[in-house]
Amino acid sequence: MTDSKKRFDKKGSGNMNNIAKTVFAPIYPVIVDNIIRRFGINEGICIDLGSGPASLSIAVAEKTDLDVIAFDYSEDMQEAASKNIIEAGLEGRITLTCGDVHDMPFGDDYADLIISRGSMFFWDDIHTAFKEIYRILKPGGKTYIGGGFGNKELFESVSAEMIRKNPEWEEFSRKNMSDENIKRFKDMLVDIGVPDYDIIHGDEGFWVVISKKTSGAL
Ligand code: SAM
Repeated sequence: MTDSKKRFDKKGSGNMNNIAKTVFAPIYPVIVDNIIRRFGINEGICIDLGSGPASLSIAVAEKTDLDVIAFDYSEDMQEAASKNIIEAGLEGRITLTCGDVHDMPFGDDYADLIISRGSMFFWDDIHTAFKEIYRILKPGGKTYIGGGFGNKELFESVSAEMIRKNPEWEEFSRKNMSDENIKRFKDMLVDIGVPDYDIIHGDEGFWVVISKKTSGAL
């Protein structure tokens, strides 16, 4: 198992599930509102990459008619997600798929919306992962992939609570949202030749928006 994957074993998954259901709980519906306001995509297939305990997937299923695939490589996370989806009564709307973002079991032009929160900072090879994302995105589809808490108030309240729980979290979060890291993702999008992308960086968080116009891979 790679070091990055070990982080999401039984203990790591338990911690993430706990945070998602407490400190982070208010952020997921706000993030989904931001996605709907920006893109107006309400139906079709949505894939949530690195879905963890599936809190974002659950918010999407509650607020839209999208069929959601909660995709994650950690079986322990998927176990927590499965319980949360049943608890929310959304078994018919959310499918769990176990796999790695670097090599995904979906056909070309598959998903209308690809979302991900707090996962891309852990990906080993962002060039390969984003080529895969582009390949499985449907023409007309959008991505909203990155990190953040939805708005300024939530950023402030969630950050304060996370730093209180774990002072090291402040540096981890600062690095993820830094100009250097944003440049790293921008350079990658240019390197792999994504024709149409936008970077959101502000109160909403840091998000990579890709708009795919024509069919196929890069
Ligand atoms: N998105 C969830 C949320 O915001 O509540 C969970 C975020 S958690 C910090 C990061 C998740 O990304 C973990 O569940 C981890 O297993 C998953 N992940 C990291 N690298 C991955 C990869 N290469 N392929 C699939 N999942 C991955």
